[in-house]
Amino acid sequence: MANFSVQLGEKRVNSSGSVRTNLTKSPVHILIIEDDPAIATNLYDFLEARGHSVDAAADGITGLHLAVTQKFDGILLDLGLPGMDGITLCRKLRKEADIDTPVLMLTARDALDDKLKGFDCGADDYLVKPFAFEELLARIRVQLRRHHAQDTGEVLRFGALAMDLAAHEVRLGDRRIEFTAKEFELLELFMRHPRQVLTRVLLYERIWGYDFGGESNVIEVYIRALRQKLESAGAPRLIHTLRGVGYVLREDA
Ligand code: CA
Repeated sequence: MANFSVQLGEKRVNSSGSVRTNLTKSPVHILIIEDDPAIATNLYDFLEARGHSVDAAADGITGLHLAVTQKFDGILLDLGLPGMDGITLCRKLRKEADIDTPVLMLTARDALDDKLKGFDCGADDYLVKPFAFEELLARIRVQLRRHHAQDTGEVLRFGALAMDLAAHEVRLGDRRIEFTAKEFELLELFMRHPRQVLTRVLLYERIWGYDFGGESNVIEVYIRALRQKLESAGAPRLIHTLRGVGYVLREDA
């Protein structure tokens, strides 16, 4: 269960004395504002089945009311809604109610221009319908971490590699590297556990949260993508394979 939660506030001090955000999974409270009953129901069932608590509204007025009167960790907001559209709702949430809960906008492909309007109104990210639920979870995780990091200003460092969690930005020396939400999440896991061997089982569980039956090469695909981006300017390898065991972030071969 609980694929997409990271601890929002809980911290512990590890044996080396540094403070580290606890990545243990825990349930979060999500608000779905979506008038398409099929999408809303599927999202609701999917999140609830993973142990999260979910509220849903099918129109903008009800959605805004819930968002203002209750405490949520994240809001999934459809763009086209009866009563009040998603952009107006988001703007009211930010400007009038002064609520900074992460908002993930759900938009139709033919309304991509609204992506910009979405950010203008204060949304944190957007997803084009139809979307894979796993991608949705990855995006929510990113927003939860970013939201948390804004309070702490947390930057993870390993050698010349710096990961700014609030800005969702990775730099290797002076070079800025773009990662997808899932790649970012995987790299973050390595950076939180430098020089430690991360087994395939652990990576599956932490990043994908479900069992692939051991046949999937999804880890190899993502490791390859990370390496290509990290090593593209001739930088030495940082993520090493321990055959039959897993992977490790370290500077030497
Ligand atoms: Ca709609």
